Amino acid sequence: MKIKSKIIFVVLLVSISALVLITFISYLTTKKYMEESALKNIDVIATIQKKRINESINDYFEKLYLVKTRLSIINNLTNYNIKPDRQYLDNISKNMQTALKPGGSFKNLLILDTKGKVLLSAYDKSLTGSDFSNNEAFIRGLRQESIDNFFNNKNKTYSVYLSAPIINNNKLQGVILIESYLEDIILSLGNDYTGLGESGEIILGKYQNDGKIVVLTPLRFMKNAQLNFTINKNDKTKPLAEAMKGIESVFTDKINYINKPVLSATRYIEKTGWGLVVNVNQSEVYQSVRHFEYILLMLLLSIILLSVIATYILSDELTHSLKQLTNSVEKISEGDLTQRVNVLSNNEIGYLSKTFNTMTSNLEKTFNEITELNSELNKEIIYRKKAEEDLERFFHISSHDLQEPLRSITSYINLLERRYKNKLDDNAKFYIDTVVAASKRMKDLINDLVAYSGIGNNIEFRNVDVSIILSYILNEHKEKLDTKSIQINYSNLPIITADHDLICYLFENLISNSIKYSNKQNINIDITCVENIDNYEFKVSDNGIGIEEKYFNKIFVIFQRLESKEHYEGTGIGLTICKKIVEIHKGKIWLESKLGTGTSFYFTISKSLDKTSEINE
Ligand code: ADP
Repeated sequence: MKIKSKIIFVVLLVSISALVLITFISYLTTKKYMEESALKNIDVIATIQKKRINESINDYFEKLYLVKTRLSIINNLTNYNIKPDRQYLDNISKNMQTALKPGGSFKNLLILDTKGKVLLSAYDKSLTGSDFSNNEAFIRGLRQESIDNFFNNKNKTYSVYLSAPIINNNKLQGVILIESYLEDIILSLGNDYTGLGESGEIILGKYQNDGKIVVLTPLRFMKNAQLNFTINKNDKTKPLAEAMKGIESVFTDKINYINKPVLSATRYIEKTGWGLVVNVNQSEVYQSVRHFEYILLMLLLSIILLSVIATYILSDELTHSLKQLTNSVEKISEGDLTQRVNVLSNNEIGYLSKTFNTMTSNLEKTFNEITELNSELNKEIIYRKKAEEDLERFFHISSHDLQEPLRSITSYINLLERRYKNKLDDNAKFYIDTVVAASKRMKDLINDLVAYSGIGNNIEFRNVDVSIILSYILNEHKEKLDTKSIQINYSNLPIITADHDLICYLFENLISNSIKYSNKQNINIDITCVENIDNYEFKVSDNGIGIEEKYFNKIFVIFQRLESKEHYEGTGIGLTICKKIVEIHKGKIWLESKLGTGTSFYFTISKSLDKTSEINE
């Protein structure tokens, strides 16, 4: 994934998750708040309505009480019961007229005997003589003051019946039954939607004879439901069933009569045994939450859009600069050190760009200096190589060219010595001996020169067993070793990749020197090897005359010999050749020595020599 996409992804992920979380929490909080305030509202309405109903009922009972306690009604009825004279009933009728004030809330007033027969009907005279023995209101009225409602089939209006026993001297004389306008107490409830919005309503219910709950109030969303629509008293999903059980509470998990989820508050009217429900549809309550939800969603989308744009702009600035830097770095890696980036801003990226430019200009400067130095070095190397070649050529030519006159000198001197030996005096003989010795030395020098200039030709690296080489050298020196007391020790020497002849020469020269430069009776030479990571480190040490430290470097220079040369034969080229051999094997040679104690020569042979390669220098 590219950095830009990564930045956009991460920022969006973080911001969107945070926003979604915040939105979700605020949505839930708002929903809860809405729910709580709606519940509070319907709870308050339920309390008020219960109070209203109780007041109305009290009012009715008061009126009922006033009528049933009228002495003239009680006395006349008592008398009528003793002696059923029409006169008594007329007296009651007159009295009732005063009780039923015109414009009052009573529709009718009935006086019934204890069997349920209508003795008197104040308004609807046709009811006189009717049998009310099965009438619920009558049956209740026999026992106590009661209130009940009832559907009046005649004029299709709803009425409420209030009934009470008429008692004289603790003896039941009859029942008074008042029919009143139901609207007063119930209809007003069913049609009052104040504070209940579009879906709320107040419902009253009571138990029927069959045990079902019938609604007393008209229903807002169902026609002709009043006193018709019933619900099961065990239906726990309906708030009215809970109200009828006497539970006064609020509910969020109930449904109404048309199965819509509602928030509801329930009350129980003890005096009548009615259940009161105030409910409001949840969809209406949450409508405002949905509105809020919509606003939140819009807000969320706008913030996401803004963060996308902002992140895009930011990441674009960042990645643009990074891209520039990457391009420049790529070009630099291809060798173009003139690359610079545009500094686009003053922030960290701008600072990075500036630093990058400083770095590249420094790099360019250094590179130019190195290039210059390198070209000078190349010139130097070419010059040195040429000088070395010239020197080699000089060695070669001189050694060959010198050999010829030397041979002439030697042969003529020999001739001179042979022919005029007897004629020459001692001085002349001494001169001739000196010339012979000088010629021999000259010859040795020339031979060494030839050997030196030839080293490096026809090199062949292959496996060389150093132990075998040493046994070969010891065999060569057998004679010398037999005459002197010489001890040469070596063991566990490795097989190395090297040029066989050169390694032979190297060991032979070092061993010869150890034998040669010794003034001891018993000569001890130890040859050991240590294997390092990238080379073999050999050590050839003796108990010879030793070398002063000031000569440590000098002895490797061609033809350099020390003061002791008078006592020991040699040309001073052996160690120079040794050094050259070690260098051909990518190694180093050095020594440790103490005058009179002995000398140790160290040299390394690289492990990285390629067996198949042939070096021709
Ligand atoms: P040469 O032996 O022909 O003189 P070399 O190059 O082999 O030339 O040695 C250079 C000088 O180093 C010698 O003249 C000698 O003085 C000194 N030298 C070399 N090897 C030893 C040694 N093992 N002990 C003491 N001196 C040594």
